[in-house]
Amino acid sequence: MRSVIPDYLDEVLRHVEPDTGGELAGYIPELAAADPERLGAVFATVDGELYGAGDIDTEFTIQSISKPFTYALALADRGFGPVLAKVGVEPSGEAFNQISLEPGTGRPLNPMINAGAITTHALAGSADLSPAERVERVVHGLSEFAGRRLRVDDAVCASEMEHAHRNLAIAHMLRSHGILTEDPSAVVEGYVRQCSVLVTARDLAMMAATLANRGVNPRSGVRVAPEPVVRQVLSVMSTCGMYDAAGDWATQVGIPAKSGVAGGLIGALPGQIGIATFSPRLDRHGNSVRGVSLFERFSSDMGLHVMEVPAAARAVVRSNHVVGAGPSAIRVLQLQGGIRFAGAERIVREAVDTAPPEARVALDLTMVYSIDDVARRMLLEVVRRLTLDGHEVYLVDPESLIPDPDPGDGGQVTVVSDVAAM
Ligand code: GLN
Repeated sequence: MRSVIPDYLDEVLRHVEPDTGGELAGYIPELAAADPERLGAVFATVDGELYGAGDIDTEFTIQSISKPFTYALALADRGFGPVLAKVGVEPSGEAFNQISLEPGTGRPLNPMINAGAITTHALAGSADLSPAERVERVVHGLSEFAGRRLRVDDAVCASEMEHAHRNLAIAHMLRSHGILTEDPSAVVEGYVRQCSVLVTARDLAMMAATLANRGVNPRSGVRVAPEPVVRQVLSVMSTCGMYDAAGDWATQVGIPAKSGVAGGLIGALPGQIGIATFSPRLDRHGNSVRGVSLFERFSSDMGLHVMEVPAAARAVVRSNHVVGAGPSAIRVLQLQGGIRFAGAERIVREAVDTAPPEARVALDLTMVYSIDDVARRMLLEVVRRLTLDGHEVYLVDPESLIPDPDPGDGGQVTVVSDVAAM
């Protein structure tokens, strides 16, 4: 059988292809010379599978899509405190190249607009790096996200540098507020080199999938960023990634995303997939016209909006029954699925409402595939309270989802690998 996904991607590409609306990024001459007809889309799953259609191996410059990844590097290299002291996390509702800083502090509002991204570039790597070493830190980091060594397009970089007056103005303002402490032109040059890194839609989908996979590249297995950093980056992408179109995007598409003026667009859906599209013509916000249409289709066709409410947790208690009879009877709460706070609350309620008359009670995790920290702590507290009520408590846990269970003060539990073993 042929997979349905490439066929679906082909069909959606055909649907948006006739739309020739929008303009190439005219303010960078090399980008204005790009082939406007290019069109491609890639899905990369969090376990490393890749599906693509159209121009997925054409190289183009990453531009602003580098911003969330460089933000991740800065957070990982310097820590949250020093980075947040210099770059905020508030949506600006302004254009990407707006010359605006937070009144009073002079901090850029967020790391997705140029002011914030120029500052973030200066925060990647340790403070004592030379400008060239900092660029290398960034290119190396972006490469790890992509899972292959990326390189800078010198022609695009030179072309942008010749017209970088606006970014230079922003950097000088940042310097005058003490947000930047280095030479502003060197920082802008480094930032423009960062924007000139060449990628394909395939690379961008892997980079997005690395974010969707909690910071671990699904193919190489390399942890590129710590989990708290990834959460921060995805949050900022969802509120600020699409600049002054962020609200429209959040409501209509609902996938943390980032666009670039060479026509790339990425979306990272936590725990599911990374998506990348490539089509160079841009709308007035600097976002790819056909890219935005593609994401609207993907989101509505496949229910990818992050605010789509998942099925309720009630199904976590698969059954509540008694095995055996007389004094050796055991009350079994058979649990299933993935358990987080709401699921654990359902289990607590089941235990309270049942008030088991049997002396022996078992929580059966055989059909549970994941349990998060809070749910684990809540189940152990159920174990402790059942013990204090005089029950003998068992945990049926063949996969060791709760290794070395410690139900705390007064709690006791016997771990077995199947119900028959009790
Ligand atoms: N290098 C571009 C700039 O600084 C990036 C802008 C973008 O992709 N939105 O203007």
